[in-house]
Amino acid sequence: MPLKTPVEYVESLRRLKIRAYVGGERVGSIVDHPAIAPHINTVSKTYELAHRPEHQEVMTAISHLTGERTHRYTHIFQSADDLVKKIQMLRLLGQTTGTCFQRCVGLDALNAMYATSWEVDAVEKTDYHARFRRYLERVQREDLMLAGAMTDPKGHRAKRPAEQADPDQFVHVVERRADGVVIRGAKLHNTGGINSHEILVMPGTGLGPDEQDYAIACAVPADAPGVLFIFGRQSNDSRKLEGGCDIGNPRFGVVGGEAMVVFDNVFVPTERIFLNGETKYCGGLVNYFATWHRANYGGCKGGNADVLIGATAKMTKILGTDKNAVVRDKLVEMVHMNETTYASAIGASAMGYKLPCGSFMVDPMMANTVKQNITRNVYMIGRLSHDLAGGFLATMPDQKALENPEIAPFVKKYHTANPDYDVMERIKMGRYIENMTSVTTMVEAMHGAGSPQAQRIVMLAQAGIEEKIKMADTVISGTDDVPGLPLPVRELAATKG
Ligand code: SF4
Repeated sequence: MPLKTPVEYVESLRRLKIRAYVGGERVGSIVDHPAIAPHINTVSKTYELAHRPEHQEVMTAISHLTGERTHRYTHIFQSADDLVKKIQMLRLLGQTTGTCFQRCVGLDALNAMYATSWEVDAVEKTDYHARFRRYLERVQREDLMLAGAMTDPKGHRAKRPAEQADPDQFVHVVERRADGVVIRGAKLHNTGGINSHEILVMPGTGLGPDEQDYAIACAVPADAPGVLFIFGRQSNDSRKLEGGCDIGNPRFGVVGGEAMVVFDNVFVPTERIFLNGETKYCGGLVNYFATWHRANYGGCKGGNADVLIGATAKMTKILGTDKNAVVRDKLVEMVHMNETTYASAIGASAMGYKLPCGSFMVDPMMANTVKQNITRNVYMIGRLSHDLAGGFLATMPDQKALENPEIAPFVKKYHTANPDYDVMERIKMGRYIENMTSVTTMVEAMHGAGSPQAQRIVMLAQAGIEEKIKMADTVISGTDDVPGLPLPVRELAATKG
């Protein structure tokens, strides 16, 4: 069965010669670096749960290419039920790790390339799709971790890719050879990029006919010559290096270990190229990817919020406020916001429809609504968590204070609330809440899978405002085809008049 174990995942990463930089320094082995380890641990959970019989239905699927059971993270969505199961998988993983588990970007990129390569071939008579299926078979057989790379640096935001003073602000082809292409540029905010086997490079925007060099979609091994990763900083990340109670989430990362990936003249052989110059399909590819990924947030953030709500509720017990009706109502409000986005993600998936290539797409309006709500609800849930946990979140003492015999008794004495709970428990919960409601996590909820305005553009396009005006006209004028029962109120008014 092509399912990697967590140990196999880590060992397969160890064999790669990934060029990565953390804190400005070249990393010898990514699997042994304490800043990267939490993110590798999180992805390892995705591998581990796929082996658990109780989670087999949500964590795995039957490949439509090979008929074999594969990881759901390498699966092409074959039905609305597949889409629903993906959201269930994300919630489960969010509940298990309390953070971002990274593999969804690669999954949605796989699906976007699968659908787009089919559509390009259907019109242009190219052979991208057959090529892509061969690549996909390998991904499934080896249960690879893929990073989706879409967001270009973009340079001057008012200028198109071809108008930039520096053409490298968007990944582009700099050389065409008989056996492939050479690409240059960078992709930002790469979730899980540094601990992936492969990078799926996609255009980050729709392109005009004169921007053919930017219309490139391909798969690049993470250790290909010319590829390098520069790890981003996260809030409180140096605490991972300190250990103790100040870490927050002791095993897993805060969001997805995002990195900048630079393509410094990287050669991509023909068999790894899935779009090359066909500009008119780029907007569709971006749209496919973004729509699937926006629905995801109702699942992953739902699972993360379950853990955050749990930590907050535990805090209320530690403080002795858990029986207070106002406190309980605020917990309900957190649950309400969380379940609203989860329900929308399930709805977007259940209403999924078949694409021309045979795979399934989520309902775009609902998917974008999920993400739009996430940009608010994650903040609102965090706000209520801060409200209930108290100012202690911003002022709590650290591990070192608890280790100093001169002051530790004071720290313990004056941070004891409900005596049933140890002070250390209070600090650990507080640190988790602090981490999961701090800048990195919030900004990720705001901008991941596209900034709020990107969703609103789709929502307006999908909203059918003119149709809604017609509905209002028809209802208010009473001119629809079915006369309905006579209305006594109307007749009475006419008689009086
Ligand atoms: Fe997956 Fe959520 Fe992380 Fe995106 S933010 S990669 S959907 S866990």
